[in-house]
Amino acid sequence: MHLHAFGGVLLVDRDGNVVFSNRRWRELWEIDEDVPPKGLGDLASELEESHVVRLGSGRVLHVFSAPLRSEDGGGFGRGWYVHDVTHQSRLAELGKLSASVAHEISNPLVYVLNNLEHVRSVLSQRGETGDLVEALDDAIFGAKRVHEIVRDVKFLARNETKPHARVDVRDVIASSCKMAQPLVPPRVRLVTDLHEVPSVRGDAARLGQVVLNLLVNATQAMMEPRAEGHEIRISTRVDSAHQVIIEIADNGEGISDEVKERIFDPFFTTKPGSGTGLGLSISKGIVMAHGGEIAVESKIGEGTRFRIVLPGVDGPAFQVPVESGEVLTVQRRRVLIVDDEPKILSTIQRALMMHETVAVSCGEEAIERIAKGERFDAILCDFMLPRMTGIEVHTAIDRIAPDQAKRIIFVTGGAVTDEARAFLAAVATPCVEKPFRPVSLSTLIASFCKERAA
Ligand code: ADP
Repeated sequence: MHLHAFGGVLLVDRDGNVVFSNRRWRELWEIDEDVPPKGLGDLASELEESHVVRLGSGRVLHVFSAPLRSEDGGGFGRGWYVHDVTHQSRLAELGKLSASVAHEISNPLVYVLNNLEHVRSVLSQRGETGDLVEALDDAIFGAKRVHEIVRDVKFLARNETKPHARVDVRDVIASSCKMAQPLVPPRVRLVTDLHEVPSVRGDAARLGQVVLNLLVNATQAMMEPRAEGHEIRISTRVDSAHQVIIEIADNGEGISDEVKERIFDPFFTTKPGSGTGLGLSISKGIVMAHGGEIAVESKIGEGTRFRIVLPGVDGPAFQVPVESGEVLTVQRRRVLIVDDEPKILSTIQRALMMHETVAVSCGEEAIERIAKGERFDAILCDFMLPRMTGIEVHTAIDRIAPDQAKRIIFVTGGAVTDEARAFLAAVATPCVEKPFRPVSLSTLIASFCKERAA
């Protein structure tokens, strides 16, 4: 099982010559190894910033582009990063359709189920047994099943992963194990082997769901008794490319090759009547929303191993495993973004996806973080915040940590007062005017950080 959380990468120099592309780049674009690099360059130059591209084959790619500077002091160029989002986009489409159906079913289902249960309890109060009661029990069972399916489908439609917090996957695993414990029969040993790993950028609750899902599936694959006993083993480790690896292995019934091909498909299940077949497809969606990958290895009668690979934070923004094993790195910066408009925050975060970004919605929080000792290579601050002006933010930060005040770049809506203009000139703080282009923003951050670091 070869897995990497990395997508395809193409690097071109200032003149547009291809200096590097990895195998994944060619795989994702479904282009021949033999295509000369020039062809790749032409293809790439048509793509700007962040795009979703649908290939003829049905594959959906998310393409990012940003200016680059290599750590060894090489000149500027441009990098493209491409990630396969076919699965997520299928889930999103399916989610939209299913959500409206699920919604329509939900309400009538409430009174179907409630009334069935009401009739059932009246009958049992009257001491009724026999055919009628059995029929009713079957109907209640069926309605509960529909209720479960509707719940899972609604979940599928909810696409709210916010992979922005720093998460230690070991905490996630510990809490999922606790939740799963009542579902694990006593004859099954749950073993954890959690090595120290870098944090990942993620949504702990959603990642917890993935682990829980895999644990529940593993338990369900252990219905047949096994002489040497049953075991589920969860482990974490870090690989040489700073990726966090989570493995969940069971010695249950295993998965046949035909089934293996379909387990991540929505609604695919081998548990008719009990499964919804959504667990693994939702899990895959969550892992991919974290920039990671999930894969499975299994042998009938021996067991199954799921492996999740997530990019660790604090690593270089681009770490490209070149075929020879050599790794290419690009300087990664820590950037604080202060803006009260959530859409602006997420746009800037996307534009700076190569860097570690921290987004806050007010000046007070920015000041508090710096007061507590957090440090940033750059601070992109909206000039007109709800309760504070940029001048006030600058003054407060300058008082706590003058070095951090020098890292501020203001983002303005255009109309700046004379007083503000004088202030900006006096403190020599750069200004970016809205609307800005994501590309120019990331170029600015690169040169600003380099200049300030010098
Ligand atoms: P569900 O559990 O509702 O069927 P999932 O999407 O979680 O839906 O899983 C899809 C299918 O993958 C399951 O029906 C089962 O056949 C297979 N599967 C998943 N995990 C395991 C496992 N640990 N061992 C064996 N089969 C598994």
